[in-house]
Amino acid sequence: MTLVIDHIGELVTNDAALGDAVLGIVRDAALVVGDDGRVAWVGARSSAPAADRYVDAAGAAVIPGFVDSHAHLVFAGDRAAEFAARMAGSPYTGGGIRTTVAATRAASDDDLRATVARLHREMLRQGTTTIEIKSGYGLTVADERRSLRIAGEFTDETTYLGAHVIPADADPDDYTALVCGPMLDAAAPYARWIDVFCERGAFDEDRSRAVLTAGIRAGLGARIHANQLTAGGGVRLAVELGAASADHCTHLAPPDIDALAASASGGGPGTVATLLPGAEFSTRSPYPDARALLDAGATVALATDCNPGSSYTSSMPFCIALAVREMRMTPAEALWSATAGGAKALRRADIGHLGVGARADLAILDAPSFLHLAYRPGVPLVRTVLVSGTPSNEISGNRTTSTGTPTNGEAI
Ligand SMILES: [Zn+2]
Repeated sequence: MTLVIDHIGELVTNDAALGDAVLGIVRDAALVVGDDGRVAWVGARSSAPAADRYVDAAGAAVIPGFVDSHAHLVFAGDRAAEFAARMAGSPYTGGGIRTTVAATRAASDDDLRATVARLHREMLRQGTTTIEIKSGYGLTVADERRSLRIAGEFTDETTYLGAHVIPADADPDDYTALVCGPMLDAAAPYARWIDVFCERGAFDEDRSRAVLTAGIRAGLGARIHANQLTAGGGVRLAVELGAASADHCTHLAPPDIDALAASASGGGPGTVATLLPGAEFSTRSPYPDARALLDAGATVALATDCNPGSSYTSSMPFCIALAVREMRMTPAEALWSATAGGAKALRRADIGHLGVGARADLAILDAPSFLHLAYRPGVPLVRTVLVSGTPSNEISGNRTTSTGTPTNGEAI
């Protein structure tokens, strides 16, 4: 069944061939979804072809679904008290991760699954149509494998993060060997990516290199938590190893910015700088210098870092508002980074844009322009979400598959 979304006041395609340079905006537009759930046609509504099913956007803006390329959703418990203490003046050190590890190990599969399902629904409601989910609160062979198995029920973008922190009772070298050996063997069948928290107090540069190299050898793509708390070697390691993304980038030295910019212009897929302003917000830390990265030519993505300790937001619109207000990104740059940028950070060409052939993942806003995402912070502006052309209210179960038979012309 084909579907036309008509009377779109402002359609963001992220396809420069269709509109302006950054967002490929088409005004007074229509978009047709084919039988295969992909965009079949985009253009002026006056020349839109007919389809089996009709949706009236009533002049609203339509944007590509958000691609949240950094989230930690497999956990138990929360750390609201730690947040309150931090707001009262306690510093963030990353040590609270071990609190969540203990709760996660003690939780049943069903409890973990219910938490992921709840957050997944929350994200979908806010316009996020692709999420990456990391393990990293198990830190044993069995618990990391279990976390990834559950994550895989919700997304193909699963990331093995056995190297999140060194467990309290473990020797750093012994634990790194476990992460690179038996734990990797158990995790790899359930993971697309490998990640490491490269930071003082977590994994130093040598151990981070060992972890990522072992993962790459096992067929996983590399991504890294880099330069969150200190200007260490994480970003340069990411570029050296061809990682898809260096995430956080809060403390950058000029050579880090140069390395990211050079990788973006190198002809290959490059290493994306994924900024996670929810973490700076929730830890009351200085924000990354997005302007320096953009002005140097680096590719920038935005993601939530949704996790119970340092950034318990699931909202990409909130991250866009922070990026614009606190990081001096333009609203257009922020939206691009939250959609096309996230897709690049996951090395996906089929999502993050609405050109012909893209997966029809999109959000119809309760607003005439995408500008309202930053202009009206905290306001729920996402009216309807489509995943592969299927309205999210018709999506049931963990995986985003179509159910039921839509009727012609119904309101969605
Ligand atoms: Zn993270």
